[in-house]
Amino acid sequence: MKSDRIDHIGIAVKSIEERLSVYRDLLKLEVTGIEELQDRGLKVAFVKVGDTRIELLESISENSQISRFLESRGEGIHHIAFHVDNVKAAIEEAVSLGLKPLSTEPEAGAGGTKVVFLHPKSTGGVLTELVEGHH
Ligand code: ZN
Repeated sequence: MKSDRIDHIGIAVKSIEERLSVYRDLLKLEVTGIEELQDRGLKVAFVKVGDTRIELLESISENSQISRFLESRGEGIHHIAFHVDNVKAAIEEAVSLGLKPLSTEPEAGAGGTKVVFLHPKSTGGVLTELVEGHH
């Protein structure tokens, strides 16, 4: 599989509203959507930057992945997401390359996308998301 762009950069924040002072108020970027992913304990806001986006991730559950990230690392860059045409095929190819997808099947991402994450231990410390759909 060949990625054609960075779909988004995920940033863990304590408060989306507070951090929009940077992206919306200072940089005058458009907030294209805010949605709650109840099953992942997350609230996400997408901010459009040219062809790519910033995804602000706020925890709405005490034991969400973002809650644990904020506790151990604080606010900051959480993951980088690359667009791919087919997440299922990408999972199989990743496994064949010795990488470690966090799920064997695509999961539901924000905005009706299909996503998978690759474990940072297999990618040099960068939590890497592959995204199918959107745009
Ligand atoms: Zn993401």
